[in-house]
Amino acid sequence: QDDKIPEQYALSLGQSGLGLPDRDYYLSTDAKLVEARTAYRAHIAKMLTLAGEPDAEARAAALLAFETEIARVSWTRVDSRDATKTYNKMSVAELAKRAPGFDFAGYFKATGTPVPTVIVAQPSAITGIAKLVATAPIGVLKDQLILRSLDGYADVLPKAFDAEQFAFYGTVLGGTPEQEARWKRGVQFTSGALGDEVSKLYVAQYFPPETKAAADVLVKNVLAAMGRRIDKLDWMAPETKQKAHAKLAAFTPKIGYPSQWKDLSALTITSGDAFGNEWRANEWQHQDNIAKLGKPLQRWEWGMTPMTVNAYANFGMVEIVFPAAILQPPFFDPKADDAVNYGGIGAVIGHELSHHFDDQGSKYDAKGQLTDWWTPKDIAGFNALTGKLGAQYDAYEPLPGMHVKGQLTMGENIADLAGLTVAYDAYHTALGGKAAPVLDGFTGDQRFYLGWAQVWRRNYREANLRNRLLTDPHSPSQQRAWV
Ligand SMILES: [Zn+2]
Repeated sequence: QDDKIPEQYALSLGQSGLGLPDRDYYLSTDAKLVEARTAYRAHIAKMLTLAGEPDAEARAAALLAFETEIARVSWTRVDSRDATKTYNKMSVAELAKRAPGFDFAGYFKATGTPVPTVIVAQPSAITGIAKLVATAPIGVLKDQLILRSLDGYADVLPKAFDAEQFAFYGTVLGGTPEQEARWKRGVQFTSGALGDEVSKLYVAQYFPPETKAAADVLVKNVLAAMGRRIDKLDWMAPETKQKAHAKLAAFTPKIGYPSQWKDLSALTITSGDAFGNEWRANEWQHQDNIAKLGKPLQRWEWGMTPMTVNAYANFGMVEIVFPAAILQPPFFDPKADDAVNYGGIGAVIGHELSHHFDDQGSKYDAKGQLTDWWTPKDIAGFNALTGKLGAQYDAYEPLPGMHVKGQLTMGENIADLAGLTVAYDAYHTALGGKAAPVLDGFTGDQRFYLGWAQVWRRNYREANLRNRLLTDPHSPSQQRAWV
C-alpha cells in the first residue's frame, strides 16, 4: 500500500543483506555479540563445506566482512520504524541516479514488478548497499546467495543442513537447545505453505459462532471506551478530537477468520517432493503478492492466519485484526468472568486499537493516509507524555548491562498502556453501575489485572532475550505485565 495514496498498492524497497539479526551484531564490541558473529562466520563456513564448496574458511571471512560493510550503512531499527522518514517515493530512474551500482530496473523486471515508481524506506542505506554490491567480488555475492538459499531451505534439505541451520539460528542466536518435534515443524510448514487450506479446517473445528459473537461485543465496548477517553484528553485540540472520532468510526474490526479464502488451486503439491513443494509455495506467494500491483485493494485479505496466537493493526487499511487462535484462553473465554476477559483479550483489543494512535499510527488519518492531521500543540502534548514513557522503559534492565530501548519499543509500550487503560474503562462500563462480584477472594479489579498478567507468562533463554532487546519492538513480557 502507498502510505500517501492508501487506495493503491505500491512497490516498497527496504534495506537488507544481513544474516545476523541486526546491525549491532556486526558492529558492537559487546562480548556476547562478538561471540555471536564469530559463530556466524563458523556457520557460513560449515554450510559452504556441507554444500561441497572449497576454501570455506576464507570465503566465510570475506562474506562476513561484506555484510559488516552493509551493517555500517544500514539504518537503525528506531529510524526504520519511523513512518515519515521511511516514506521516500521516487521514480526508478531517480533511484538509479541516487543509488548507482545496481541495476534496479533490471531487478524489478526480473522479479515481475516492472514499476515506474518505488517507495524507498532507507535511501542512504540503499545508496550504500548498491555501491557495496558494485564493488564486491562476484564470488562474495554468489556465496551470500548460496548461504541464504541453504539456510532458507534447510528444513527440506538433507538433515545435516537442517541441523547446522538450527545449531546457529536456534541455539546460538535463540538459546534453544533442541528443535521442536518433527510433526510440529511439519504442521508449521504446511500452515505456512497452504495457509488458507489449513485455516478452513482449523476454523471449522475450533471457532464456534458463539465465540465470534462474544468477541464482537467486547470489540464494540472497547471502541466505545476509546471514544470516551479521547473526549477526556486535556492536551488535544477539539478539531483534532473530531478527526480522531472520525478515525474511530472508520475502523474495520476483523475477528476470527477472513470473509474470503485464497484460491490455491494453481499451486502444485507433489507427495515426496518436500523441496519442490516449498519452492513452488514460495513462488506462488510471490506471484500472489506482485499480482496486487495496479489492482484495487483486497480489503478482505488477512496478514495472519486464524491459527496464529497474535493480533495486529494495519494503519493503511484502518483495521484491527484478531485471529481465531487468540480468542481462546488465557486471552478469552466466552464462559469466563468478564474481569479476566477484559484484562486479557479486552486489553489486546485496546492494544491494537491504540496502535492507530501511537507514535507512528497517529500519523495516519481516518482514510489510512499518512498525513499531518494533528495541530503542532497536539503533537507537543503527545511528545511530552511519550517522552516520560520512553524514559520509564529505558530504565528497565532485563539483562545485566542491557536495557530496554525506549525508542524502539515506544509504539508497543504506548499500545500496552493505552490498551490496558481503555480495557479497564470498558470493563467498568460493562458492569453497568453494579459492584463487581468477589470471586475466589479477588475483587473485579484484581481479576482484571490478573487477566493481563496471565497472558504475559513467559520464559526467555538468555540468547533469545538479548536478541529481542536489540531487535524486537515489543518490551519483554515481564515489563509488559508491569505496564
Ligand atoms: Zn503491538
